[in-house]
Amino acid sequence: MKQNTSLVNVSYCLDRYLNKLIDTVPVNAYIHIPFCRRRCYYCDFPVSIVGNRPSSNASTMVVEYLEALTAEIRLFSNNFHKKPLTTVFFGGGTPSILSAKQLATVITCLDKQFGIASDAEISMEIDPGTFNKEQLLGYLQAGINRLSLGVQTFDDKLLQVCGRSHSRTEVFQAIEIIRQVGVNNFSLDLISGLPYQSLSQCQDALDTAVAIGPKHLSCYDLVLEPVTAFGKQYQPGKKPLPDDETAAEMYRLTQQTLTKAEYQHYEISNYALAGYQCRHNRVYWKNLPFYGFGMGAASFINGKRFIRPRTRKEYYTWVKKGAEIDTPVISTDDWLLETLMLGLRLAEGVNISQFERPILDKIAVAMQPYIAKGWIEVKDKYSQKIALNSGNLTALNLNTETRLRLSDPEGFLFSNTILSDLFEALV
Ligand code: SF4
Repeated sequence: MKQNTSLVNVSYCLDRYLNKLIDTVPVNAYIHIPFCRRRCYYCDFPVSIVGNRPSSNASTMVVEYLEALTAEIRLFSNNFHKKPLTTVFFGGGTPSILSAKQLATVITCLDKQFGIASDAEISMEIDPGTFNKEQLLGYLQAGINRLSLGVQTFDDKLLQVCGRSHSRTEVFQAIEIIRQVGVNNFSLDLISGLPYQSLSQCQDALDTAVAIGPKHLSCYDLVLEPVTAFGKQYQPGKKPLPDDETAAEMYRLTQQTLTKAEYQHYEISNYALAGYQCRHNRVYWKNLPFYGFGMGAASFINGKRFIRPRTRKEYYTWVKKGAEIDTPVISTDDWLLETLMLGLRLAEGVNISQFERPILDKIAVAMQPYIAKGWIEVKDKYSQKIALNSGNLTALNLNTETRLRLSDPEGFLFSNTILSDLFEALV
């Protein structure tokens, strides 16, 4: 009788790989700036609302937070073997609530504690209506070289429906400023599946984005989080939200429009012109170690995943107590699952020849129906499709690189179903 062996017993090689990963020094840092002018109705991120006050840059709240944040960076970096950072990502929240001087303080602190590589990608999320030309020039001077503009939609009515704090006009003003200061590498964020959004409005947003010509686009489907205003007000698939088929059509429309405009669909929700994939976010999808700093930020260091407190008060107390991370090292099982689930989000998929036969057998059984539907593809290292004997993964010779990937767009579209079956099979 075949034993129901724990994955950890059959994955000696994976253990060794995980140990190597634990010894790997992170070279990527996420910095959370948790301030927004108001809370968008779909957002459950850890943020503090500062309103539209022009004096907000100087507000005590922001100053206090930056003190705690830089203290955390210093405390942390003292405990680690360090290498210069190759990517830094300021996310939020709305990092452009910070003045250029405030942002420079954080970058200087990172540089002093870790060093920043001369060719590092230093990204920053910015929102329309929160910055002017002088401020943006200051950000660039501080070291920012990639911008991600939170547009979500170009339609004034939909912007209002979402509770966004900016208008369509402010989106174009923001883009004009980005162009004036000469930033070439910028990304736009869009959301589809919004309440009252029609397919033609979705197409308009895509066409407008293509006409603007960013190097990168992140196109998310609306997710109803229960704690948000949207989560309390709406039911998935019910009016005024698009039904499931219309939401799926929006996903296909996005894929068709953007790939036609030569954007590579490199991750479920992300598109980039050649050479402009987000280097920082690829670290997450490759399940590599990274630092996270700031309220609610996650990190993966020395094999430990850790999420910082999600309120400012708790975060300050944690920093004052020494910013200790006391979570256990993740198990090989968890690491394997995460590597698969995250890696399948990428168009290049996951190299399954690194897995041992018993694990592969489980993956094969769970994926069989989706291989038959064409939602999962098996490719070699040259991205050539590998024909499977009766769709059977287990018969493969795994001595050479073999990649499992979701097909585009259908596999990506049904990724939740596929990944949850994979999860069940491996847990
Ligand atoms: S601007 Fe972004 S982080 Fe802030 S509330 Fe809106 S969605 Fe959330």
